[in-house]
Amino acid sequence: MSSLNKKYSNNDITVFWQPEKCIHSAKCARSLIQVFNPRRRPWVVMENGSTEDIVQTVQNCPSGALSFEYKS
Ligand code: SF4
Repeated sequence: MSSLNKKYSNNDITVFWQPEKCIHSAKCARSLIQVFNPRRRPWVVMENGSTEDIVQTVQNCPSGALSFEYKS
C-alpha cells in the first residue's frame, strides 16, 4: 500500500482510500456528504453516517479508490 493511502474506522468497519485511484467523480459525496466531504479535512468522518450507508457508498465508488473491511 502507498503511504498516501488513508484509512478511517468506526466500531464495525475500516474504510480505505487510495488517492491515486480516485477519479474525483464525487459520487461518494453526492451519496453521503456528511461522511465523504472533499472540502473538509479530514474528508472522511465515519461518525457522521451509519455503517450500512457507508458500506453502500463505498461499494458504489466507480474507481475502486474506496474499499472497506469488517473488523474482526
Ligand atoms: S466515489 Fe470514489 S472515485 Fe469518486 S470521488 Fe469518491 S473516492 Fe473518488
